[in-house]
Order: sequence, then C-alpha cells, then structure tokens
Amino acid sequence: MTQLDRPPGAPDPVSVPFTPGMRDNPDELAQFGDEIARDPEVKHDPTPTEEFTEEWRNASYNCFSSGHKFCREVCPVMQVTRNESWTPTAFHANVVAMDKGELSIEEVAGDYVNCTQCGACELRCPNTLFTGDFYRFRTRTVDVVKAVRAFAVESGIHQPAWKTWNARTDDKTHEPVLGEIPIKQENVRDWSAGLDIPIGGESVLFVDCEAAYYRTSVPRAVAQILQLAGYEFGLMGEQWCCGGPAAEMGYVDQAQRFARHNLDNWRSTGTKRILVLDPHDYISFTEDYPKYFGEEFDLEVVLVVELFAELIREGRLTPSVPVERAITYHDPCRLNKRKGVWKEPREILRSIPGLDFSDVDRVTQWSYCSGGGGGLPVEKPELTAAISASRLEKAAALEVDTLVSACPWSERPLSAAGEAVDIDVVDIHELLAASLGIEVGGTTNGSANGSAR
Ligand code: SF4
Repeated sequence: MTQLDRPPGAPDPVSVPFTPGMRDNPDELAQFGDEIARDPEVKHDPTPTEEFTEEWRNASYNCFSSGHKFCREVCPVMQVTRNESWTPTAFHANVVAMDKGELSIEEVAGDYVNCTQCGACELRCPNTLFTGDFYRFRTRTVDVVKAVRAFAVESGIHQPAWKTWNARTDDKTHEPVLGEIPIKQENVRDWSAGLDIPIGGESVLFVDCEAAYYRTSVPRAVAQILQLAGYEFGLMGEQWCCGGPAAEMGYVDQAQRFARHNLDNWRSTGTKRILVLDPHDYISFTEDYPKYFGEEFDLEVVLVVELFAELIREGRLTPSVPVERAITYHDPCRLNKRKGVWKEPREILRSIPGLDFSDVDRVTQWSYCSGGGGGLPVEKPELTAAISASRLEKAAALEVDTLVSACPWSERPLSAAGEAVDIDVVDIHELLAASLGIEVGGTTNGSANGSAR
C-alpha cells in the first residue's frame, strides 16, 4: 500500500508531525515502510551505457556527491600535470554524467589513459576506507578506471598504442617488451641459462615479461637465492604473459584467454604454488584470476619478497657480504598501496650489512609512484618519465646514491630518471643476492651479453 492507495476518507498520515523513532508517531505510518523511496521501474531494454552505469553508478555518486577531492594531491598524474580531467574525482564524475546521458564513452575514454592504477587515491579517500554502516557503497577508483577502459574497448574505442601493444602481445603470447630482444616462446626461459632449473613441479617461478626478456638479472637473482636456501622450484612448461596488462588496458577477453592458458599449463605440470617476483603478476594472480575462475583457481600464490624475508628470519638465508651504499627504498604501488606489503622489503634491507638506509620522508602507505604502471608508459611515455623524475627528486633530497625497487616494471623509467640525478636504481632481489655472495649474471637492459651496470 502506498500513499496513493489510501482508501477514500482515511486520514492522511503524512499530514501529522512525524519524528523518526518517536513513540507517539501515528501507527499508520508504519505501513508505508520503504515504499516511498523505492527504485524507479525500468521500462525499456537498457543500452550498453545504461548497463555499465547501472553497475558503477552508486560508487561514482559516492565520490561525486562528496566533492572533497581528498585524493587530488596524492595522485601522481595530478602532481605532474595539474589536469583536473585526469583526477579520480573526474573519473567518477564522468560516470555520473554518462548515467545522466550527458556524456558518452567516446567523449571520455581518452581521459582514463591518465592513471597508473597505483591506488594512492583509494588510500586517501574516506569513501573507500570507511565503508560499512555509514557509507553503503565503496568508492573504487582503481576498479572504475579499469572498468571504463574495458567498456571503451567493448564499444570499439581504442587508444592507438594500447591497441598495437595488445595485438602484438596476442601474436607473441608475451608482451612486446621494447628493445632488440627476440620475444618468442622459445626465448622465454633464456634468462635461466646455466642455472639448471627443472620444468614444472609443486612450486613454479613465474617471471613477468619485462624481467624474462629485458631485466634478466632479476629472475636470475631470485632463482639463485632460492637455490641457495634449498627451496625446490621449477619453471612453467609453456608460460604466457599473465594477462594483467591487457586487463588493465581494457582488453579483457585477451587477458582471460591468457589466464586460461596459464592455469591449464600449471595443472598439466602438477603445480600447486606459484612464486611471483613481479608485483603486477601478484595483482593478476590474487585479484584477476580468482575473479575469472572462482574456486577452480585453488593455487597458492607466494610473493618472493615475502618468502625471502621469512627465509632470512628462519636463518635459511644470511646476508653477510657488506654492500656499501647509501640507499632509499621505492615501494612498488602494487605491493604497498594495493596489497599492504611494505614491512618485508624493509626487513630484507635491514638485514644487509653495510647499507646506509634512509627511509622515505612520507607516510609509508602513501608513498610515491614511478609512473610505470596501468599501461601509462605504453600510451604516454612522457608522462611516465615526468612521474619518475619527480620520484627521483624525492630520493635525491635524501642524499642517497641508490634507489632500491622491488618491481621490474618500475626499474626502467626510474633508471632513466636516475641518470639525471646520479642515482643508481637497483632491484632488491639483486641487492640481496650480492650480500649473499651470489654472482648473478644476466642484464639490466635487454642486451645480449653482460650487465649494463
Ligand atoms: S575519489 Fe574519494 S577522495 Fe577523491 S574526490 Fe572522490 S570521494 Fe573524495
């Protein structure tokens, strides 16, 4: 029964004073319940835009209606561009405008390139953090950006460099890591030459495309540390790209095909545990794959940097060769801001003798971005370079000679920016290997022989 159904002659209950929760409220009011605020009826088949905004409307209105823009100053793109159209606020406001029929996906798709998916906005946003009783809908900027990119691709709207990158990835089953490097299935394990690592087994080391083809010193360091600790592991039979970058750029079908291949391959070699050194893969395997496969994805995902901290704690690894460097640590966004992993890398660094470690001058969980994620370097390399330069300025202020990272994808732009301020960029796994007395080998620049350093 609604107000309009009131029998003729019956008193109008809304005409009398009403205070929620008061004992002397008229009984009749109880019958109306939530009817007054019921959802409008949908009278037609929704368009693709309506279907899309139906899913994202509430989270986006949450941001739009608050208007406080707390996230603005922690956004790495905003910090270097000051472009209001590329803020988390604008990303949500666009969805609201699409919901109202005032903007189309064609008009806004290009704005969503300008996001590294670092998650800083979510750590600053009260509508993301304080959900539950108070706010009904969680503002999810990282997911909204990913979803709008996917909706754009589904609608036939492509960013030119992303389109080419994903077509090449599809063709080669690995990302087209730039440089003079043969990207082929036959070469995906070249980095492990001479290390005598078996194929398959219960634990398998998954090496991201950048590390497998370009920064081969990183997986070599990881593999040799595992061998030193006596940790048994193998390599994948036929490893394809994890699909994470394709998913981030909106090419969801491709991402899922790649994920399916990898899952089937792990099954074929009896794998139960995946060891991951790249933070981007870690996001794919802990967030994307469970969404694609549900309970079918029952593999354990182990982040190598956490495993190494544990092995040091247990005394199975003892860094003892002094490394005389003045360092600071670059928290990869996908570890720190997205997954809350920031203690273990510091534990590792504090265990290495000789290091003079100056920690970042900013609340750890809100640390700086390299600009190397979310497909930004593919479509807008100049923006990635500006963000990396800004990151290196912060390191230079600490008067260090070395910036240590734990993410192969951040190390290329950070290294380029480091040259300008005379700061060396080193991978944490390589640094640990050096302190364990391991001669790593491999390259840091995709060249065929020797180390670039
Ligand atoms: S994303 Fe969060 S912090 Fe930023 S404006 Fe929206 S509600 Fe505010």
